[in-house]
Amino acid sequence: MNPNPKLKGQSALVTGANSGIGKAVAIALGNDGANVVINYVTHPETADEVVNEIKSNGGNAIALQADVSKEDQVQNMFQEMYKAFGTIDILVNNAGLQKDSPFTEMSLADWQLVIGINLTGQFLCAREAAREFIKRGVVAERSKAAGKIICMSSVHQVIPWGGHVNYASSKGGINMLMQSMAQELAPKKIRVNSIGPGAIQTPINKQAWETPEALNSLLTLIPYGRIGQPEDIGLLAAWLACDESDYITGATIFMDGGMTLYPGFSTNG
Ligand code: NAD
Repeated sequence: MNPNPKLKGQSALVTGANSGIGKAVAIALGNDGANVVINYVTHPETADEVVNEIKSNGGNAIALQADVSKEDQVQNMFQEMYKAFGTIDILVNNAGLQKDSPFTEMSLADWQLVIGINLTGQFLCAREAAREFIKRGVVAERSKAAGKIICMSSVHQVIPWGGHVNYASSKGGINMLMQSMAQELAPKKIRVNSIGPGAIQTPINKQAWETPEALNSLLTLIPYGRIGQPEDIGLLAAWLACDESDYITGATIFMDGGMTLYPGFSTNG
């Protein structure tokens, strides 16, 4: 356990925390002293592994199942969290998926699936968290803010992405959801921010890094010359959740090794 945990006594919920970025975020929050809910929708055994890792590091965690696109399941999950930890201080809206196809072949079902989980899921979880933050208010011993919401967006909130219009639209939507919530909730001392990851090595984009050829092609898009690791995002999320970032709200922090710097123009376009 970190000798100076920045999130001591706070309770956090991380959606989609049994894989990839969500897992690393949950472990980072746990290492900083938060009680962590590991949300999962399938594969409970991998959620239990994350719980056990946090506990073996000296932290506290439980696993709760819910499909973030279903209102009743989200509301039940929050009630279960309150039974276990009393309240919520930090929400990390991380769950997401891709269902790719050329635009003219994209089915309505695949459009709705991705918007339902990636965008509506963030709305449903953020609304529950904000209701609790407002009801409870600031608890000065824990944090200067009444609550913190961190939305996992993507570089694709600004970089258009052919063949993935449902995904890119969900991430563009998250930007306005995040900024509008931040504007409305700031007077209630609630901070809302996004993280915009570039290419992070997780199962969601395996085909982009699993062979040396694929990885080399990917690296042409990353000026800093390496693929990101889930732990990079975990450390940023833990910082955005703590009082060191208390004056930041309504911001997207891109963590992308320079992917949003238009690397194709680095030698005169
Ligand atoms: P991942 O596939 O490893 O993890 C996604 C998680 O979301 C899994 O735990 C999955 O079970 C969960 N999930 C999916 N549908 C769900 C639902 N209905 N309810 C609850 N949980 C659900 O992928 P990842 O790369 O760790 O992605 C995490 C987030 O980061 C996503 O929002 C993704 O869009 C975003 N992101 C990832 C990258 C990257 O390069 N890996 C880049 C930008 C943004």
